[in-house]
Amino acid sequence: MKLKNVTEDDIYTLVGHTLAGRGYDDYESGLVKNLKVSETAIDAEMAGRSSPNYTVKVWYDDDGIDGNCTCSYSQGFDVCQHVAAVLFEWVYERVDEGVVESQIRQELERLSKSELTDLLMEAGKDNPVFYRRLRALVAKTGSEG
Ligand SMILES: [Zn+2]
Repeated sequence: MKLKNVTEDDIYTLVGHTLAGRGYDDYESGLVKNLKVSETAIDAEMAGRSSPNYTVKVWYDDDGIDGNCTCSYSQGFDVCQHVAAVLFEWVYERVDEGVVESQIRQELERLSKSELTDLLMEAGKDNPVFYRRLRALVAKTGSEG
């Protein structure tokens, strides 16, 4: 079991349906803050709905995935809805950079030259630094007009 292999099902198995449901609501309300992900653990802050922020930690080891929280339910060792919320944030919002980059490349290679040109022009409009690079191309080929 690795953190990046965690799925929705694992969350339900870990905390049960009731806590998972509450955790999902917390996740959807954007209460999960400052997700810090390492190879083996996730640290996060959890904004309380009517109470102070909690600190949540989720990790995996030989026993699988586990977590704790500073709220009164968890008392620093039990899983709670906040652990579930952090895991939902991780499962739904994470971006595996390597996979995404290769997928983007694959899609770009499918586009026609004129579609690529449109895309680059569009990017230039949104990004002045990139637009200067496009302008530099014109200067290079000397076809400015
Ligand atoms: Zn908690």
